Amino acid sequence: MNRPAPSRRPSTIVLTLFAFGVCGVLATLIGVHPSESANATGPIQIDEIAAATPVDPIAAIAADPFAADEAGIDSIPAEPAAAVPDSIPEDEVKTEPEAPASEPQAAAPRVTEGVLERGDTLVRSLTAQGVSRRAVDRIAREMIGHYDFRHSQPGHGYRLVQNAAGEIESFHYRISPIIGYELSRNPDGGYLVARSEAELWPRQAMIAGIVTTSLYGAITDLGAAPQLASDVTDVFAYDVDFSRMIRAGDEFRILYERLYRTDEDGNEVFVRPGRILAARYAGASGEHTAVYFESKEGRGGYYRPDGTTVQREFLMAPVRYGRVSSRYAEARRHPILKITRPHHGIDYAAPTGTPVFAVASGEVVFDGWAGGFGNLVKIRHKNGYVSYYGHLSGFADRLHVGQPVAQKQIIGYVGSTGLSTGPHVCFRVAKDGKYVNPVHLPTPEGPPLAEEVKRNFQARRDSLLASLDSGTLVAADEAL
Ligand SMILES: [Zn+2]
Repeated sequence: MNRPAPSRRPSTIVLTLFAFGVCGVLATLIGVHPSESANATGPIQIDEIAAATPVDPIAAIAADPFAADEAGIDSIPAEPAAAVPDSIPEDEVKTEPEAPASEPQAAAPRVTEGVLERGDTLVRSLTAQGVSRRAVDRIAREMIGHYDFRHSQPGHGYRLVQNAAGEIESFHYRISPIIGYELSRNPDGGYLVARSEAELWPRQAMIAGIVTTSLYGAITDLGAAPQLASDVTDVFAYDVDFSRMIRAGDEFRILYERLYRTDEDGNEVFVRPGRILAARYAGASGEHTAVYFESKEGRGGYYRPDGTTVQREFLMAPVRYGRVSSRYAEARRHPILKITRPHHGIDYAAPTGTPVFAVASGEVVFDGWAGGFGNLVKIRHKNGYVSYYGHLSGFADRLHVGQPVAQKQIIGYVGSTGLSTGPHVCFRVAKDGKYVNPVHLPTPEGPPLAEEVKRNFQARRDSLLASLDSGTLVAADEAL
């Protein structure tokens, strides 16, 4: 029953290089940001064109559940760093001279930049770069009430500008690629602190390729961020089970936004992938195409080209990625019991702790220990369906019987409790008390778009699909 674990190194990758944009002229090829390209297996180029409008960073983050991960916000466990003391003895501040008297007053401002490393504190990092203790203390004092440096984390960056006399002109402390605190001098000699948010600029980009093992592997091996792989999996989660239905040779294309900020030196810095605008997955499971469309201002979703929403009553799988370790079968040899008996579910092997989703909205009817199932959650849905999620390592916070759950809500985490040989979730569905094969669940399509927005949808769809399809696939396997 077990298939070999998929390797993350495809032997064949095909990628598309193309440009589309103003006047149909090839836009400048821009290399992938270094942090994204670390795992690339071949030459990667992603063409881009500047979009006309900036993205509101807060809205962009809110719309994107994985934004925080990639941006590094709150993704590193809080690690209290011994930081700047809360109070600075006044006498110490006042007695130290502003700067050596011999220093010429007309000299250029001094810029000190750095990024905190693991175990670093701001004080240590600044003083190591020769910034005076007096200046460091001043920064700490002025930032009180705005940012507590005890929350400093590795990766936080700063930029200090001092005049020739050593006085602080400005200090910028960046806690993420987007959010920072700006200390600046007042005309009256005092300081002001303001929280700053970088404006993000989207550029359209396209990647395309052929899957050899997993879609995740194919996308990340192209140098794109793992977030993009998650996002495209989510777009097609109602139609494709990426643990079960993908085959080597399946093709994908993704038209998406890459979000940039402008740094202090005026350089454009890639921050993270933004929204997927259109995507196609064509393979053994058929061809699936989705485009992003806002039927009302700010209320967007993914639609098939015919205008039906991609959402369905049941998700195809309870985990985003996994490997099917055991299929639904009327007879299989049990790996522990060594007897032949039916397996009325699908086992998805995935690392312990992988989130498990409710495949449809419903109500929790069981959560607890259930013998061979180990930790089990059962959810009752409409029309007599009940879904089962077994062998969990743990349950979602505050999960309880009677609780309503939404489709795709996390209800627990993959584990190996009960009769289990390794971390997986045993996913089962019963209808009117009888197990059914989850692969054959009826999945009616969602409602189509309202008549009044159809014309807008068609125009948007045609333009997005033209961009999605305007590239040429180039076989690149011999280059790898
Ligand atoms: Zn099972």
